[in-house]
Amino acid sequence: APSQHPPAVRTTCPYCGVGCGVLAKPDGLGGAVIAGDPAHPANFGRLCSKGSALGETLGLESRLLHPMRRGADGALARASWDAALDQVAAGFARTIDKHGPNAVAFYLSGQLLTEDYYVANKLMKGFLGSANVDTNSRLCMASSVAGHRRAFGSDTVPGIYSDLDEADLIVLVGSNAAWCHPILYQRMMANRRMRGAKVVVIDPRRTATAEDVDLFLPIAPGMDTALFSGLLVHLSDVLALDYEYIDAHVSGFPDALARAREIAPDLATTARLAGLAQDDVAAFFALFRETAKTVTCYSQGVNQSAQGTDKVNAIVNCHLATGRIGKNGASPFSLTGQPNAMGGREVGGLANQLAAHMGFSPQEVDRVGRFWNGPAMAKREGLKAVQMFDAIARGEIKALWVMATNPAASLPRAGAVREALRKLDLFVVSENVLSNDTVSAGAHFVLPAAAWGEKDGTVTNSERRISRQRPFLPLPGEAKPDWWIVSQVGQRLGFADAFAYRSSADVFREHAKLSMFENGGTRDFDIGALALLSDEAFDALDPVLWPAPATRAGTERFFAQGGFFTSDRKAKMIAPEMPRPQAETSDALPFRLNTGRVRDQWHTMTRSGLSPRLAKHLPEPFVEVHPDDAIAAGLSHDGFARLHSRYGACVLKVRVSEGQQRGSLFAPIHWSDETAAMARVGELVMPATDPFSGQPEAKATPVAIAPV
Ligand code: SF4
Repeated sequence: APSQHPPAVRTTCPYCGVGCGVLAKPDGLGGAVIAGDPAHPANFGRLCSKGSALGETLGLESRLLHPMRRGADGALARASWDAALDQVAAGFARTIDKHGPNAVAFYLSGQLLTEDYYVANKLMKGFLGSANVDTNSRLCMASSVAGHRRAFGSDTVPGIYSDLDEADLIVLVGSNAAWCHPILYQRMMANRRMRGAKVVVIDPRRTATAEDVDLFLPIAPGMDTALFSGLLVHLSDVLALDYEYIDAHVSGFPDALARAREIAPDLATTARLAGLAQDDVAAFFALFRETAKTVTCYSQGVNQSAQGTDKVNAIVNCHLATGRIGKNGASPFSLTGQPNAMGGREVGGLANQLAAHMGFSPQEVDRVGRFWNGPAMAKREGLKAVQMFDAIARGEIKALWVMATNPAASLPRAGAVREALRKLDLFVVSENVLSNDTVSAGAHFVLPAAAWGEKDGTVTNSERRISRQRPFLPLPGEAKPDWWIVSQVGQRLGFADAFAYRSSADVFREHAKLSMFENGGTRDFDIGALALLSDEAFDALDPVLWPAPATRAGTERFFAQGGFFTSDRKAKMIAPEMPRPQAETSDALPFRLNTGRVRDQWHTMTRSGLSPRLAKHLPEPFVEVHPDDAIAAGLSHDGFARLHSRYGACVLKVRVSEGQQRGSLFAPIHWSDETAAMARVGELVMPATDPFSGQPEAKATPVAIAPV
């Protein structure tokens, strides 16, 4: 009888960075009934199609249930936890002894919980002596991190979700929020319906987000910096800047404005560079000029670019120069892609961060080293994702541990990544599926990790809100939490005390304690108020925004009154480089390939692919082509096409779409050779990266297309 079943468990959706609260009611048969949590401030009970279908993704058919080790015959065979952990630890120790600490690396994931991330980062950066820890968040929002740090002196997201309810103008740049952040998009549309807020979408593609908005600007690929430079010039020319705010709280204004004038001196030049009609550009400028309560949301169309950091700063410049930052309904706002990209940033999951938003200054290395009592503190930044896999290809990194991600499908030049992986002396994967592209690329050990519904810990969403992921299903087979697996290896490497965690609550308390200011201080990330939570209080923790300091009041919004985390406490306006494509198209490769997500799938589909309901939306891998290009190339709707770039090839079904610009193609990232033959789009993507963020350019690879 239903009354015999346990009550619904409050947890958090494992997909996008909105971080919706979920109520999961176990059905007693290994599944659960899923509903939105009305009390969660991210979604107030609503869920999108992916969140609603979570109950269909809990089966164990494709789960990895036991540790596996690859034998001399090349096949994976079951191993005991003790044997696998002993051998993994011995392999890392041997590699470091022989080749030094920079010959080892971890590649992590925005799907990990904060506690998993914290322990992995601590082991590598405090005890193994290298900062070669990077994450698939490098592919997601690293340019926003770099842009924030350049402008604010810290990786601080100034806005919160209620700004989207209070704004009078919402500008979405490179964001298909209707599909990729659906619940936030619904909040924006509710604001438009009920308060009359205006919505502007800036995107090379006419996506679902652009369907019902006040202004759609189909910008030329990569030209965001030109448009926002033109906006800054316009605001200056019509005296619409907030000089009081600039004088008090901003540095770098003259140089940034001068550079903006070099890039986009007038409306006509701006429109020409951006590939837009002058009237449309003028209409956007007027809306921005006249609307104090403006929120500009930016996502992967901005971040996934070899000039992504400059794009972020060009947007942030316009907000700083108008004083529209950290105020109710007025802020730049990075929408993060993954459920815990923010948590990864907090613990230092990126190779250029240390922990608790600290970097590699001697003082910060010393502070973290004393706190961890780490015998081998990394003293400088490690290799970022694309560099890391290049170092593997060159034979410089010899031992790699991949956790909760599938780089053999998702990194640029995925074919070369798979070849590089085969060169490793030690290749460990923590996963919850039996097989994926990365496991099949020759992993020596595959360790069964807990999945959503079993995991216990925290995630942080796009507005800096920490929420609990709580278990409502038992761990199947021999699966274990990631923090436990890493801790066991840490203990076997001789660091028994430092990795003697009993629970995720233990890890969280330590993470919170490290974030506390020491002798006063000027960092942004401080959750010291949570450092003394009892196990029971951690279990019951309500969603909480950071900062949550122990010794002073927290703040919901940063920077409305200045107080930036730079040495002079002023924000810095940055002079961006001239926007330009990283690789030119040619007669042989005449199109630009833009990659992204679809509404109902997630990453390489290991979870969302289990739901029949979600598979109905767009069941096959495809490429979108403008009708004129389809005619010229002899492509027909629903026919098949072969695409190739300098790096690889794939075969996709053709969808002819008016939403696509001439000369541009769009293909989703979700399918791979594990789910459909020749469908791995990552094969084609070029490895160009942003010089500041290291984020790869995933939106503009020159390619050719032909019918099959
Ligand atoms: Fe999950 Fe994102 Fe959908 Fe919310 S909007 S239910 S977090 S996928």
